[in-house]
Amino acid sequence: MADLPTVPAPLRLRLDGEALVGNFRGCEARAGVPAIPAVKADGYGLGAREVVRRLHGAGAKAFAVATWAEAVALGRADLPLLVLHGFTPDCAAAAAALPLARPVLNTVAQCAAWKAAFPGRPADLMVETGMNRLGVQPAEISAADGIPVQIVHSHFACADEPGNPLTERQIARFREVAAATPGAAHAIANSAGIHWPGTSFSAVRPGLSLYGGEAFPAAQVRRVVTPEARIIQLRDVAVGEAVGYGATWVAERPSRIAVLNIGYADGIARRLGPYLKLHAGGRALPLAGRVSMDMLAADATGTELSEGDWVQLDWDLPQLSAASGCSQYELLVRLGDRFERIWI
Ligand SMILES: *Cc1c(COP(=O)(O)O)cnc(C)c1O
Repeated sequence: MADLPTVPAPLRLRLDGEALVGNFRGCEARAGVPAIPAVKADGYGLGAREVVRRLHGAGAKAFAVATWAEAVALGRADLPLLVLHGFTPDCAAAAAALPLARPVLNTVAQCAAWKAAFPGRPADLMVETGMNRLGVQPAEISAADGIPVQIVHSHFACADEPGNPLTERQIARFREVAAATPGAAHAIANSAGIHWPGTSFSAVRPGLSLYGGEAFPAAQVRRVVTPEARIIQLRDVAVGEAVGYGATWVAERPSRIAVLNIGYADGIARRLGPYLKLHAGGRALPLAGRVSMDMLAADATGTELSEGDWVQLDWDLPQLSAASGCSQYELLVRLGDRFERIWI
């Protein structure tokens, strides 16, 4: 099919560009050093290209993605992109096409592969300080000898837990790493880490905070993301009739049920059901029954809603996360491809 018809997006993701920029500025102000926004996983589900465009406009100089595929997809050969998963020789063509991009080298083998593929080209280095996820051991830093290392990184395991002693141990180890690598800049703090004293070093790498997540208790962040779905059908349900899979919701009074075109395939996990808040025309609509793959039902009794009307989901990340057990990160990155991302 050469000419596919244009079809209106069935769902909308309303994205607040001022809040995004405000959250970025808040991170930089708290840290007192430049912030390198984490835009991996398509900008935590918001759409990495637009996030980068907006934060670059707000002064961000470099951005972090997970993979070379994400770096290429950004289409920004003009920006320093940090590739957190490092480098393998099969990504050499991507690295050649993005001359300002730098792998964050994680292993001795990655250091050797980078040196062989791009002698003299700058890279970053990840050093392990207590999370045991990615990074060379402090004793292996010499593997990067001969590479112009721009930033030496490490990453916190528990910075979201105030007072967790592992964070203090990681800070102390990273200070030693920094002393051993005086020629480079240094960065360890994610969104939560910025809330600990002594973590700023040369730069910070926030992700969640930019997108409206509460990375640390009582962190002040502005909400960025609001999903919207549409009413496909309105139906009247008599007392004693059930709604949805498992027939878990039963009408206790004559009810008007709105069936919405959004479900767990769009990132609305089934276990969020009891805690979801839906709003339309100034009214709150309680969920009726289970979330389906592409639909859910809400009790719209007493409203003037019509089929085709839009309904907002109250995407309160900290509250939904605390109530449901889904992490704030998952609540963002699972918002799927059916949404049109609309920046306001
Ligand atoms: C994802 C990531 C970040 C950002 O973390 P947040 O908790 O979202 O702020 C920072 N650094 C590294 C290495 C990451 O992988």
